[in-house]
Amino acid sequence: MNEKCGVVGISLADREAARPLYYSLYALQHRGQESAGIVTHDGFQQHEHVEMGLVGDAFDSDDLDALSGSNGIGHVRYPTAGSVNACCAQPFSVSFKSGSLGLAHNGNLVNTEEVRDELASLGHAFTSSGDTEVIAHDLARNLLEEDLVRAVKSTMDRIHGSYSLTIMHDETVLGVRDPQGNRPLVLGELDDGYVIASESATIDTLDGELIRDVEPGELIVLKPDGSGYDSYQLFDLEKTAHCFFEHVYFARPDSIIDEKLVYEVRRDLGRKLWEESGIETDVVMPVPDSGRSFASGYAEAAAEDGARTEFAEGLMKNRYVGRTFIMPTQDERERAVRLKLNPIKSTIEGRSVTLIDDSIVRGTTSTQLVELLRDAGAEEIHVRIGSPKIIAPCYLGIDMASRDELIAADRTTEDIREAIGADSLSYLSIESITEALDNDYDELCLGCVTGEYPYDVEGEKTDRDVSRPAIGEQPSAD
Ligand code: AMP
Repeated sequence: MNEKCGVVGISLADREAARPLYYSLYALQHRGQESAGIVTHDGFQQHEHVEMGLVGDAFDSDDLDALSGSNGIGHVRYPTAGSVNACCAQPFSVSFKSGSLGLAHNGNLVNTEEVRDELASLGHAFTSSGDTEVIAHDLARNLLEEDLVRAVKSTMDRIHGSYSLTIMHDETVLGVRDPQGNRPLVLGELDDGYVIASESATIDTLDGELIRDVEPGELIVLKPDGSGYDSYQLFDLEKTAHCFFEHVYFARPDSIIDEKLVYEVRRDLGRKLWEESGIETDVVMPVPDSGRSFASGYAEAAAEDGARTEFAEGLMKNRYVGRTFIMPTQDERERAVRLKLNPIKSTIEGRSVTLIDDSIVRGTTSTQLVELLRDAGAEEIHVRIGSPKIIAPCYLGIDMASRDELIAADRTTEDIREAIGADSLSYLSIESITEALDNDYDELCLGCVTGEYPYDVEGEKTDRDVSRPAIGEQPSAD
């Protein structure tokens, strides 16, 4: 079970947290549309409301009023094909001898079975197949014997994989990022409190200030009265494995992740795409919305080189149709692309077109769009993609597809060009991705484009040894 989600946690001085959490989940809606949930604590007891559907449908005013308390966490969950069910909606809550826990998780563990079996043999009963419940039980167990910080460290020692977590332990909100920082997590300040969230756009929505990224292997503990936070670097900062695909596709362009504005990264990638494989055509056209920042960078670089190519929006998006990817069957995905995008004939007819998108996964979108553009009278169609070929599945939290569904898993670029019906096709190089993100290979997770993963995922190659340094708790000032 993969979790591809958005998380948030808020502590306020003297104000109910439910509405700011609700607005935060709105800001994170793109990270998950299957379910939404909030858990708060009012100093006496935990309250929760978790429901299937979009944030706007999951809560009404009464629901938010019932979520009392100035501390809370929230979650939006991304659906996996065919797994639309209520079992895995979050935050996940447990009560145990010495208190209550709520847990919201973005990421994917690679040793869930092992930890679940161990806990089951100790008498823990599980109600879902998800890895979040496993983390919650492990932490609840550790909390019976250890203080909060040590308990979190013990759980982090036990679980492997990607995780950005917000946790509600009684009325204390925590944020945790896995030791390689695979999924994003940021810390921000509000007028009357603090917030931890998957993306900085959440903090902007609340009129707050981004303080910084939560570091890989760091635990942040918010003070329940909203007056500050403590930081504990529980793992030495060694090799990070930030997911490059967050920058390419998943995150909002207006978010800053690992100190980089996603919009600028995408424009930069678009510029590099022109440098690597630019072709002068009458128009440069983005696939909305995912290709837009790439296409604007590409067109800008083309113009600087003197290319006489016009940036044009030739595909109009019906904004009421959700992400095509989340449709469980191929038939539905194909129908959804057509429902979602309609061509503007006058910008296409009789012209050569460069069509720009961020990625090709199964090839559904590009195949359909090439056909659509041809039907609208395009003379030539050149497809340019702002990421390398996706040749392997993601095991660490992004719903891609299984290996046999990936169009590039075992095809050459020329085979793919033929399959999608384009006149030419080019992908961006891995080098350009690492250059744009100012990292070497070691600091990014490039598993889906290299097949080499930072964690030992069953049956796949591992590109490094994950060493786990000893506990080094260093409480720091606010
Ligand atoms: P596909 O149609 O299967 O080739 O998928 C590529 C299209 O889906 C592109 O337009 C991407 O912007 C978008 N996309 C890529 N990765 C994902 C993902 N993990 N979830 C949803 N959409 C995606």
